[in-house]
Amino acid sequence: MTATETAAELPHGMRALRLHEWGVAPSLDRIPVPQPGPGQVLLRVDAAGLCHSDLHIMDADAGVLPYTLPFNLGHEVMGAVVAVGDDRDREWIGRSCGVHGVWSCGECRACAAGRDNYCVELNGPIGCGTGYDDGLADFILVPSTRHLVELDPAAGPEVAPMTDAGLTAYHAVVSQPVDLRGAIVVVVGIGGLGHLALQVLTLRLPSLVLAVDPRESARELALRLGAHHAVASVAEVDALAAELSGGSGADLVLDFVGAPDTMGGAPGLMAGGACLVVVGSAGGSLTVTKGGALPRGWRVEAPFWGPHHHLQDVLDLAVAGDLAAVVEQRRLDEVLEAYQDLREGRADGRLVVVP
Ligand SMILES: [Zn+2]
Ligand SMILES: [Zn+2]
Repeated sequence: MTATETAAELPHGMRALRLHEWGVAPSLDRIPVPQPGPGQVLLRVDAAGLCHSDLHIMDADAGVLPYTLPFNLGHEVMGAVVAVGDDRDREWIGRSCGVHGVWSCGECRACAAGRDNYCVELNGPIGCGTGYDDGLADFILVPSTRHLVELDPAAGPEVAPMTDAGLTAYHAVVSQPVDLRGAIVVVVGIGGLGHLALQVLTLRLPSLVLAVDPRESARELALRLGAHHAVASVAEVDALAAELSGGSGADLVLDFVGAPDTMGGAPGLMAGGACLVVVGSAGGSLTVTKGGALPRGWRVEAPFWGPHHHLQDVLDLAVAGDLAAVVEQRRLDEVLEAYQDLREGRADGRLVVVP
């Protein structure tokens, strides 16, 4: 074990948004700055995005999630490496990086196949903000440089959402086994993930993209980002998809809400052989059975986050200007109000905390 290598003198204390009790709002605490042990790296957080999943974590009842309290919330982080636990990682000091939040083992059969988001070793906590301390803090400790993707030092806070919202949306679209050229696609929920999915979709050349969101500002955003039509409800998109497809329906439905009404309405939108991809976690459910409400040849997926190699792709697209998150910046001391805005649908695009 080598001594910790640091870029400069670090402060002793830092602010961190900590969840202490299930179902109770987190608090912005003052805690010691962690020291990197062997293999670990410490990053100064430059930006951390806020996700609806954080609300589901905060709101969860005790015993639902396999995480030990307390821990720092958030899971969408970029920052600069300021200290490393191993001398061999010294070259990382000073690098600006995005953090891949799935802290996979790197060795199991899923990791070896590039499906590290389904690492077989991740049975409890998953990564930063999902059971381990995360970047809604001044500093974040990451277990290995394997979980980092180097960024252009000029990358701004708008890149932070690429590590979760961008990666999850990208993975959901590009993992489709069918060619989307000429397809009819419905995107439900034009929030943090949906507005990035629209941009990924335009690169895949579908013939028709229909966006659904009850908020007028979100529908306007969808139209600016390449959606051909934007409507307020699943019932409206049902009628529109039927009309525009000559009655057959959509080939792909991406549900970034996952509520009872969005999932319940999805089978009626789908053409034969279509896929419903459920990404949002708003308590919806669906009866999956042959000969039921779903069309012939149905596929239903619920992809989780995305693998490390897709994060590299997403960050390359962001640097090239092909993928850009619409963000609204907040300070760390405003984070609790920012979550309230997210909860009440007052944010367009992604809220990003810049400590
Ligand atoms: Zn998330
Ligand atoms: Zn693994």
